[in-house]
Amino acid sequence: MCQKSKYEADLHCHTSASDGLLTPEGIIEHAVRRGLRAIAITDHDTITGWTKAEETSERLGILLIKGIEINTDWEGKEVHILGFGMDENNKSFKKQLFDLQEKRIFRIKEILEKLKKLGIDISFTDVLQYARGESVGRPHVAQAMVKKGYIASIKMAFDRYLKIGCPAYVPRYKLSPTKAIKIINDSGGIPVLAHPGVQDLESDIRQWVEEGLLGIEITHPDHSLDDKIKYHKIAERKGLIATGGSDYHGPGIKPGIELGDWGVGLDIVDQLEQMIKQNQIEAK
Ligand SMILES: [Zn+2]
Ligand SMILES: [Zn+2]
Repeated sequence: MCQKSKYEADLHCHTSASDGLLTPEGIIEHAVRRGLRAIAITDHDTITGWTKAEETSERLGILLIKGIEINTDWEGKEVHILGFGMDENNKSFKKQLFDLQEKRIFRIKEILEKLKKLGIDISFTDVLQYARGESVGRPHVAQAMVKKGYIASIKMAFDRYLKIGCPAYVPRYKLSPTKAIKIINDSGGIPVLAHPGVQDLESDIRQWVEEGLLGIEITHPDHSLDDKIKYHKIAERKGLIATGGSDYHGPGIKPGIELGDWGVGLDIVDQLEQMIKQNQIEAK
């Protein structure tokens, strides 16, 4: 028996197309078991999970909203922008995603070169074995290092080699929130600021709203009650959609986090769908 979710819809979760444990099919099946009526999958910088998720959602009768979470940098803070409902056939959107993936791959190859100079010989193919999806990242390098016996744990790999300030650290390609908001808007999607309470972004929101931000994520496991109240007020004041989701990465990844225990009601899903329709007309 699977316990039912607290919310009807979860608008933030990750599949194996990025750093989640469950496949896109698996997460839709899990959402159905949890009794969810709607779900958005929001993998980091990639939409490769959409097709399989869509097939499964149609088969099982659950509403899928196609989403993404774009990692950006803002004055030294990592800011995540969620996007919902982008047109996957939009040429510039496809190109932007391709560029993001290229830059990720390039960064990993640079890390591997640095490791090699330190006597740690890991090939890109080794790393890819751990990145089952498309978004290859440092955790996959760490896994390969552990597997090959260079280090005892993933945490140690980060602490000694991969973290900022460590000998094999390579900075990430820095996309600005402004650019991510534009990419999403230009392809008919709805840009939403993810978990602003985590980075304390209250004072930065006004600028992004002027640049086209249309929503704020309010319900999120890392948000305190104070965060929820604060950002809900901002959303109301600025006429932004208030979204929510569990940021689920799979069973056991973060204890206590279950799909659908953070989320929204179907009224917000309706509102989001209306906004997507409107934005797609304007983007054409
Ligand atoms: Zn995030
Ligand atoms: Zn996330």
